[in-house]
Amino acid sequence: MTGERRTYRLAAVIGDPVGHSRSPMLHGHWLARYAISGAYVPLHVRAPDLAETLRLLPRIGFVGVNVTLPHKEAALALASRATPRARRIGAANTLTFAADGSIDADNTDAEGFLSSLRSACPGWRPGEAPASVLGAGGAARAIVDALLEAGVPELRLLNRSPARAEEVAQHYGPRVRPLPWSAAPESLSQAGLLVNATSLGMAGQPPLDIALDGLPTASPVCDIVYVPLETPLLAAARARGNPVVDGLGMLLHQAVPGFERWFGRRPEVDEALRAAVLAP
Ligand code: NDP
Repeated sequence: MTGERRTYRLAAVIGDPVGHSRSPMLHGHWLARYAISGAYVPLHVRAPDLAETLRLLPRIGFVGVNVTLPHKEAALALASRATPRARRIGAANTLTFAADGSIDADNTDAEGFLSSLRSACPGWRPGEAPASVLGAGGAARAIVDALLEAGVPELRLLNRSPARAEEVAQHYGPRVRPLPWSAAPESLSQAGLLVNATSLGMAGQPPLDIALDGLPTASPVCDIVYVPLETPLLAAARARGNPVVDGLGMLLHQAVPGFERWFGRRPEVDEALRAAVLAP
């Protein structure tokens, strides 16, 4: 098995559901582009089967998996080791199997978000102004972690259910200011960044209805929703001159560390990759 493990490598995305995942297209594009011998497949795994699946996969040639909803918290709990970032966020999206079957867990959503923002807006300076983040779910937590580590002085966190934002603020300390959802327009005053980390604006969901008037026009607006690519929020921000960052960039960038660990090559995020992932 060890020899085969070196020559043909298997990786997967595990979720329930998993059919909508773009990760097989993304990793498949990189495997073909770098002529790497291996495959990346979607695996529909239900919660009661997760632990057994993670025990079995390394024994049949898998080198790692991405984990999507609803398994991100359980995957962290099942891992043998975890990065400090995954532990802080409380969820894992990237698992790497060691040769003995033990599991290293990481959360690359934070890094993916920051890399996407930095490559789209190289002039953004995290230390210069507060950031306003909408949402307090799993993705928002990774973004809060990333922005605090990047040096944002104050993070205004707004969520429909206030208790969830307060819980994140308690976890991360006084730089995170939980504000009521109704304070969204005021939270934009002097803000150097606005992030939508809710599911509002996603196809089939209501749009995110927020007046952008108070937001300085130089401040980037990021939406982590990527279906559609241009959400109503991004369209409104673009129309008033703000730099915009779509959610596809985060999805592509969060995949880089896993691919590098599993297949031994740091892959590039570029227009060809975007086109491959957007292909119907
Ligand atoms: P969660 O279910 O953990 O969180 C959902 C968030 O959206 C919560 O803050 C929730 O508020 C809020 N929300 C949902 N409906 C409404 C509404 N009607 N009004 C106000 N707020 C609402 O999901 P995730 O954090 O995992 O994902 C959030 C979004 O981000 C999804 O659209 C997902 O596809 C996208 N995503 C994108 C990634 C990327 O790489 N681009 C990576 C991960 C996620 P409340 O707490 O009150 O319910």
